[in-house]
Amino acid sequence: MTNYEEAFKKITAHAREYGFVFQSSDIYDGLSAVYDYGQNGVELKNNIKDYWWKAMVRYHENIVGIDSAIFMHPTIWKASGHVDAFNDPMIDNKDSRKRYRADVLIEDHLAKIEEKINKEVTKAAARFGDAFDENQFRATNARVLENQSKIDAINARFIHSLETNDLADLKKLIEELNIVCPVSGSRNWTEVRQFNLMFSTRMGSVTEDASAIYLRPETAQGIFVNFLNVMKTGRMKIPFGIAQIGKAFRNEIVARQFIFRMREFEQMEMQFFVRPGTELQWFEFWKKERMNWHLSLGIDSENFRFHDHEKLAHYANAATDIEFKFPFGFKELEGIHSRTDFDLSAHQKFSGKKMQYFDPELNESYVPYVVETSIGLDRTFLAILSHAYTEEKLEDGSERAVMKLPPVLAPVKAAILPLVAKDGLPELARSIMDNLKVDYNCQYEEKDSIGKRYRRHDAIGTPYCITVDHQSLEDNTVTIRERDTMKQERIPVEKISGVIAARLK
Ligand code: ATP
Repeated sequence: MTNYEEAFKKITAHAREYGFVFQSSDIYDGLSAVYDYGQNGVELKNNIKDYWWKAMVRYHENIVGIDSAIFMHPTIWKASGHVDAFNDPMIDNKDSRKRYRADVLIEDHLAKIEEKINKEVTKAAARFGDAFDENQFRATNARVLENQSKIDAINARFIHSLETNDLADLKKLIEELNIVCPVSGSRNWTEVRQFNLMFSTRMGSVTEDASAIYLRPETAQGIFVNFLNVMKTGRMKIPFGIAQIGKAFRNEIVARQFIFRMREFEQMEMQFFVRPGTELQWFEFWKKERMNWHLSLGIDSENFRFHDHEKLAHYANAATDIEFKFPFGFKELEGIHSRTDFDLSAHQKFSGKKMQYFDPELNESYVPYVVETSIGLDRTFLAILSHAYTEEKLEDGSERAVMKLPPVLAPVKAAILPLVAKDGLPELARSIMDNLKVDYNCQYEEKDSIGKRYRRHDAIGTPYCITVDHQSLEDNTVTIRERDTMKQERIPVEKISGVIAARLK
């Protein structure tokens, strides 16, 4: 097992052990790529939603939220292009009978070559020390240049076959690159076929009358089809945005990497409606705004990067991903797309309703252009969880696993712990708990030694442990222990709430 696999395994095991994430239908051996959130997971997830909602809806006066239904009229998915084109190219290995995404096999191959380049660069940096000029090295080193030209050539062909939907060439490329099945090690591949990712079901109680409908594969279409409703009833003036958090479903061909790629997941999306011609300015605005949101959680900027799309969807005129350094490498966390008037125009055509805005400044009506920000809630959860998970060796030689979550997102804000469960300590601790729980999610615990209780709360990321001891009964003070430094301080009971509040700001 590689280091990163080892590290990732620890995080997923920790998430299960401490009630963050469980495999769905666990007692029936699970359901592939479907997960449940446990008692701590749901708190963390709700806190992330709340943090996003406040940043997007509350702090922007021109953005409002909605909550649209998962089931929608089937024509919506025809108009949006999902019925015809929401496909992934799949390929099977005949020996292992494992199924793969053809594009992902090629992307992984490209990543390996990229990795070779990075190794050369790291080696050279160590050799040359301070005098090392990375840009110059990349532009002149023969091995780097050779690998880079391989990447460029593969990429050009790969993008061309995707754009022209040339599935036979995708297969040829996989064969020419000698890509083997990671399980069987063989090159015995089937043809590449397109696979539609939408789940369908039937609505209606009588089978003959029932019509096929889809479980939405994205929340965005629920926003587009409510554009007129919200614009009119909310008296919205362009530029304005509509935000939504909700479930989406995709029948992913290969679901792996825990909650990174699920078949049922949640998205937090915002569609920003703008005057045509101003969309690229707004695209830049939202790129910055969204990156700042990620950085505001206190995670170092080196963990994030933009990845501009080389192959733009036919309706987009700019698109970028915010990628996060997951334990398995940089991967997409959020997409920011300038979608032109594609969706509203398509719905105008299919529904026959005018999806237009009358601009009083220009004195004309138009179909607005749209810039969207689309982030996976579960992927954000995974990013935050994997970044927060830390193993530390302590001075006394023992070890602790601590979840260094941003306090504002921590499932439990404070643990209230009577040192012993007698002598009137539980009563005082309970009264502190009763006061604090009105404002914060707190936990009262009296079982086990105080050290064990501290460790349990470190493991779920509780920023503060408040211990009530015998002195507390005399002078109404408690010790408050901070999670990351483990420093303890004695403070009056009435100051506890203020200390917690200051940390959450
Ligand atoms: P990918 O290329 O990883 O499949 P995508 O480009 O299809 O993602 P979008 O359609 O742009 O993703 O969806 C927006 C966001 O929704 C993604 O950035 C991601 O965070 C999240 N997301 C998409 N698919 C899944 C999934 N199967 N499981 C969890 N989150 C997902």
